[in-house]
Amino acid sequence: MKKLIYMDNAATTPTKQEVLDEMLPYFNVRYGNPSSIYSLGSHSRTAVEISREAIANTINAKAREIFFTAGGTEADNWALKGVAYANRDKGNHIITSKIEHQGILHTCGYLEKQGFKVTYLDVDEYGVIDLEQLEESITDETILISIMFANNEIGTIQPIKEVGRIAKEKNIYFHTDAVQAIGHIKVDVDELNIDMLSMAAHKFYGPKGIGALYIRQGVKIDPLIIGGGQERNRRAGTENVPGIVGMGKAIELAYEDLNEKNKRLIYLRERLVKGIFDNIDHVRLNGHPTKRLPNNVNICFEFIEGESLLLSLDMEGIAGSSGSACTSGTLEPSHVLLGIGLPHEIAHGSLRLSLGDYNTEDEVDYVVEKLTDIVARLRAMSPLYEQAKEVR
Ligand SMILES: *Cc1c(COP(=O)(O)O)cnc(C)c1O
Repeated sequence: MKKLIYMDNAATTPTKQEVLDEMLPYFNVRYGNPSSIYSLGSHSRTAVEISREAIANTINAKAREIFFTAGGTEADNWALKGVAYANRDKGNHIITSKIEHQGILHTCGYLEKQGFKVTYLDVDEYGVIDLEQLEESITDETILISIMFANNEIGTIQPIKEVGRIAKEKNIYFHTDAVQAIGHIKVDVDELNIDMLSMAAHKFYGPKGIGALYIRQGVKIDPLIIGGGQERNRRAGTENVPGIVGMGKAIELAYEDLNEKNKRLIYLRERLVKGIFDNIDHVRLNGHPTKRLPNNVNICFEFIEGESLLLSLDMEGIAGSSGSACTSGTLEPSHVLLGIGLPHEIAHGSLRLSLGDYNTEDEVDYVVEKLTDIVARLRAMSPLYEQAKEVR
């Protein structure tokens, strides 16, 4: 088998060996239940608290404000449903954006069915929300603003500090889905006036199925998972101790030499974009040119289906992602690409390549070379492309 070139780090990342090494004893040696009072249990409890502390420190929160969940989606569900149900007496209005992750959008859809009102803010051509529209959307009924930190498809980073300032001024809770940001950009919940924040370990070289919700002290929020008294009565269920240990180690590693790592990623990103633009015509870079994640490249190739592009890349050992998802037999283009105003036919030809710590310059050059060949081959079958060439 050919060597795999993995450029889908926004979907998930491999668990780092050092992270896995920290986790392993907690499966079969230090396997105690953190709630048990004998030493085996308290060892687990200590490990959980060390990890909580490490996570809190990286975002300038207190350890008691970090609650472990089974990942980013659960954290998103909890923030939205928990605040909605606990603050019903204050109001029934939530503000979010059109380009959030499904974990937010589908939860909002569910809450609408429960009688809540949701405003979905527009974004501009780069995927940035309009702060004026945000301010105008706020009513006496507004209880929560939920705006993602950075977009998982196009990498655009939102004006989080401004959103935090507006939310604070109006005394409205502010939640951010920071699943793409944590481990990749420095986040300070105090400086940014964030009340709740979702994160997931598998997006920063930790294990899957573990995440956390930061909840600022004093925020009124109902639990989502009900049962035992774990996580100080706010998230029931025996703790995922190996996952929690892995998440703590992963977040520490992620913020070591962050600037160095990001400089390298930005260099690789720019090399990839330049390579594509120099070699292929009728392409478009999606997302903001500068206010974007260091590792995100999202490109539309006109006259091409994203799915065929992905399959051809896979045959060359290259793993990427496209915005389109096959739902009930019809290819629906990504809501994010439609949100930035792209017409359906262009949104269909999108490719996301998200770089990671293990990608190299040689890999970037190889991907550009293969992509150039594949795009030419696929376009040779497109009558529309032939017409467009003639017009030029
Ligand atoms: C991956 C992702 C999620 C979901 O996290 P899971 O841990 O997979 O549930 C939510 N929001 C964003 C922005 C993501 O990228």
